[in-house]
Order: sequence, then C-alpha cells, then structure tokens
Amino acid sequence: MKTPEPDDKLYLHYNYIHKLCQIGAEQIRANIGKPDIIIAIGGGGFIPARILRSFLKMPNEKNIPIQAIGLSLYEDLGTGEVGTIGKEVIRTQWLDFGALATHFDTLIGKNILIVDEVDDTRTTLHYALSELEKDVREQAEKLGRTNEKTIFSIFVLINKNKPKKADLPKEMFEEGRYFAPRECEDSWVNFPWEAIDIDTVSDLKEISCDLVKLFP
Ligand code: 5GP
Repeated sequence: MKTPEPDDKLYLHYNYIHKLCQIGAEQIRANIGKPDIIIAIGGGGFIPARILRSFLKMPNEKNIPIQAIGLSLYEDLGTGEVGTIGKEVIRTQWLDFGALATHFDTLIGKNILIVDEVDDTRTTLHYALSELEKDVREQAEKLGRTNEKTIFSIFVLINKNKPKKADLPKEMFEEGRYFAPRECEDSWVNFPWEAIDIDTVSDLKEISCDLVKLFP
C-alpha cells in the first residue's frame, strides 16, 4: 500500500462522519425537534444530510424530505484544487418552489434544517440562509401568511475555529439552532468521499474516534 506523503490536512473516516451525524441528530432532536425538511448544500452537504435523515427519524415517523441547492465559491469553479477557497457565492441550483408546493408544501412556518459539511469562512452558510429567508419572507407576504414563524437551523459536520468572513444571526447560536458536533483548527479537511485511495485513509489508525491527523 502506498504511504501517504506527510501533510497537515485532516483526514476523516466514513465511520467518523457517521458518528458526527449521530451526535448531531441527537442534539437536533433535543433542541429543535424533528425538522420538517432538510436543505442540503451540494455537493458536500449531500452525504451528511442523508445520514442525518436516518438518525433523525423516529420509529413510525415519516422520512424527512431532502431538497438540494447548489452553491460554489467563485474561485473554486473549474479549478478542482484542494486547499483553496473563493469569495463570491455562485448559485448553481436552487429550490423549485412550484414542485415543492405541489409535492410537499410551502416552506412557510416550517422547521427547516440547512446541511453542509464544513463551516470554513461561513460565506456559503450566510448566503444560503439569507437567500432562503428572503424567499420564504416574499412567499409569506404574497400569501398573507406573515404571522407564521419559519425556523431555520444549520448543521455542519465541522466548524473551523477561525475568524469568519460572514455572519449568521446571533439568535441562531443563542437559541441552539447552529449544530456543529466537531470544531477544528484552521486546517484543510479531507472528507472520505474525496479520497483517491480510500484504503489508505481507512487503514489509518483512528485516534479514539477523534479527528484523524495523518502525521500528528
Ligand atoms: P465557506 O463558505 O464556509 O468558506 O466554505 C464552504 C465550502 O468550502 C464548503 O461547503 C466546502 O465545499 C468548501 N470547504 C471549505 N473548507 C474546506 C475543507 O477544509 N475541506 C473541504 N473538503 N472543503 C472545504
């Protein structure tokens, strides 16, 4: 087996991701109850969202619908480089509110969980939350339903402990609607779905189910 080159990135196992979702789901159920809908930010939020859904569902309850939105940081587009991030958020896919209303409902008055894999500069989460809030507010005004309270929460697997370039509302933290089961320093995180040689990453000794660092 090829020995990985030493680097300062964090490598996470699939099992570790799964456990972060399990911990997160317990916190979510305790703080905000069962979300009515999950909005996954693609691509990193897709796998965590799907795992979370299983942990959030109690016996005899219905599955929580998952909807996808596509957001990219501008400088990321097309480069495919790891370890760099951009600044401007580009919306590559958004909710189809017509289809949602037909097959689910409007988002007005709902308990909505936004899911991504990592909170780095917070730019993407800020964009997703403020745009979704704006859309729901406009729909509520159009339908005369502004008295209904729509609750947004956020789940990420990992929050990087660093100065952020964008904010989230402080009530989100005060009211326990921001979930990040793990914090880490400002390192680049390699998720297992990005691994080229998954056996190498999987064979790394897991340090008591904490963040796995290749060469500590
Ligand atoms: P933010 O807007 O918080 O700066 O970054 C959000 C997006 O950048 C994430 O959804 C993710 O796609 C990407 N990103 C930021 N930091 C990392 C990292 O450490 N590892 C990986 N794989 N992606 C990251």
